[in-house]
Amino acid sequence: MSARKPFFGANWKMHKGPSETRAFVRAFAELHSARPESTVVFFPPAISVPAFRESASDREDLELGVQDVHQEPDGAHTGAISASMAADAGATWGLAGHSERRREFGDDDARVAAKVERLLEAGVRPLLCVGETLEERDEGRLASVLRRQLSAVLERLPADAGAGLVVAYEPVWAIGTGRTASPSDASEAHAVVREALGGHLGGGAADAVPILYGGSVKPHNVDELLAAPGVDGALVGGASLDPEAFARICAAPFGDAP
Ligand code: PEP
Repeated sequence: MSARKPFFGANWKMHKGPSETRAFVRAFAELHSARPESTVVFFPPAISVPAFRESASDREDLELGVQDVHQEPDGAHTGAISASMAADAGATWGLAGHSERRREFGDDDARVAAKVERLLEAGVRPLLCVGETLEERDEGRLASVLRRQLSAVLERLPADAGAGLVVAYEPVWAIGTGRTASPSDASEAHAVVREALGGHLGGGAADAVPILYGGSVKPHNVDELLAAPGVDGALVGGASLDPEAFARICAAPFGDAP
């Protein structure tokens, strides 16, 4: 039984402008009742953040995050948004280290660490994504890759920073592919993450950090993934674009929750 609350994140990537965001929130709010024992966070594109905020203004249980922030606090970085701007716009969460940012935009470990620092400085809680490629897994490097990605960030954080952190284990080969890690694959990787967190933050603080699974989570597989030991929730891409599918995911049974 876990003391951590189940956590469901919706990463919309480059989908849903302001109008579609409003329509989604209306539909989802009908389907999903506030579930106090869980956390539900949406990561719309930055341009849709105000629309999300307006349309979810009567639903405090639906939290808001941004998909990315720049690693610098401000400056000449055309097209980017800073962590403090995200906070000003009402975001309380920020993704860092998503594999699409690592692959398409060159976010390496050092840059991901700087982004996590900027988020924490701005009072925005980081959701740090880590995960191995298929090649790394096949070469038996799962644990070393996860430890490297986590250490790069954790080494730079103040001792008490663990209190705000959430980690998502997202095997790159399972993102947007329809291929899901088995519950035992997820548990094995989550144990590596938990151990690495303990090494940096100390056991008590590490125990409080939720570790989510992400990678082709769908209504039909969420129950078994959430039942896997060490899995505290899900970060969902494709299936979070459909209100019914995401409402079903957010209703998944968890531990001893009613
Ligand atoms: C993601 O982008 O974080 C993700 C897990 O995507 P999908 O659910 O589509 O695999």
